[in-house]
Amino acid sequence: MKIINSFIAICLFALPISAQITHFECGTPSGMDMERLMANLEAASTLEARAGTQYLPVTMTLIANDDGSGLITEDAALNGFCRLNENFEDLGIQFYLRDGFRYVYDSDFYLINGPGSQNPASLKIPNTINIFVSEVFTQGSQGSCSGILGFYSPANDYVAIDKCTMDGASFALTHELGHFFSLPHTFFGWENQNYNPSQPTPEFVNGVRVEYADESNCSISADRICDTPPDYNFGLGASGCDYTGGAVDPEGNPVDPDEMNYMGYFFNCPSHNFSPNQGDVIHADIADRNFVGGSPITAAVNGQANLTYPINAEITPDTDVTLTWDAVEGATSYLIELNRVASFSPSFVVQRTVATTNSLALEDLLPNTNYYWRVRPFNEAYTCTDYGAGTAFKTGELVNVVQIQGVESLNIYPNPSNGAEHIFMEVNTSEPLEAEIKLYNTQGKLVQVLNHQFNSGANAVKIKTASLAQGAYIIGIQTENGTAHQRIFITR
Ligand SMILES: [Zn+2]
Repeated sequence: MKIINSFIAICLFALPISAQITHFECGTPSGMDMERLMANLEAASTLEARAGTQYLPVTMTLIANDDGSGLITEDAALNGFCRLNENFEDLGIQFYLRDGFRYVYDSDFYLINGPGSQNPASLKIPNTINIFVSEVFTQGSQGSCSGILGFYSPANDYVAIDKCTMDGASFALTHELGHFFSLPHTFFGWENQNYNPSQPTPEFVNGVRVEYADESNCSISADRICDTPPDYNFGLGASGCDYTGGAVDPEGNPVDPDEMNYMGYFFNCPSHNFSPNQGDVIHADIADRNFVGGSPITAAVNGQANLTYPINAEITPDTDVTLTWDAVEGATSYLIELNRVASFSPSFVVQRTVATTNSLALEDLLPNTNYYWRVRPFNEAYTCTDYGAGTAFKTGELVNVVQIQGVESLNIYPNPSNGAEHIFMEVNTSEPLEAEIKLYNTQGKLVQVLNHQFNSGANAVKIKTASLAQGAYIIGIQTENGTAHQRIFITR
């Protein structure tokens, strides 16, 4: 048996969206604590049924390299957490992010189980379910989302998960939480062993008793759980969700695995579930753990964020901009994405920030630049709401000190216009300049443009304002050397 590293025990391999399994390499499953499982099975038989939903605290630690690289996007983390809660909902179990996401920027921890990496056990927060999210090391396949993509460490009682599984489609995190709650694979014993149809099915595989189809040895074989039928790891590499390989148990009886079990390896099923007995074990395990009772927010997030400023291509007074939106019922946090393109392409993300109020102050944006932003509301237990519709704004460059070569000063008067039919742009130049003068409303719409040839020295350009509605405008001067803007106010 191949021992990859002492602190890996249980692993799960790639579950890419395409469901194309390209590579598998598993850590040893021998560390699974069967005594704990047996105690949970025993306790489950007398456990009283619970009413309502049980909320369990999670510390989700997002690990990046020293320089911040490699960090999972908060979007993906929210999606993965949403899927986890959806999957446990039927069991009356929900998880909540105690104290939000936790960030660790330390290359020594980034590549979990990698050569020379620190064991994240030292980062654990007690009395919570510790989930570490970054990359899980697999020899030869780092960064490829294949190989080992998650594991539960029985020795250290934490879950590590590769960020590439946190896409909202994979059930990898749910599977690892199953291990956390003491569940073995449904095919326990067969982790590193292929079923061979041309050989008699053995009574033991890797020291684990092989499960019979008739349930006669179910409590002492394989995963010890009687309502999960025998599975000799048939799912690995299976292309569908219906095993028809014709395998038989040691007595020659045909076996029919539960393809849709979370603790199996059938990756092409439309949905998955825990069996009732597995659910009982999970509840028994929770009852035996010392989770400090908190008072998590249990409300769903209702609706999406209505963005209020700046919106609809509005031009902002300067490059420090405070984004505001209406608070969303049930939300305590907001993920704000600032992007350079309207499609919100991941390649053009300027920043993603989590805020706990319905505003976010941005500083030192680029001047004269289009930005797009959107908001995703969530709370510690409900992370399934997507971004609402995005909107755009453009930063102004409203400085009096003109930074265009050849322009020494720029002044608008009267400003406010105070009912004048014209305003004047007074420009002092050190050389002749050809310029376009542009007037925008605050929605960024060009309402007037004129070309002007400036002479060297003082120039005054008359700009007609009689037809302009009252309000704020941006006036810009654009030359081949650069652009400057000022805000003006037309008043009657
Ligand atoms: Zn597993």
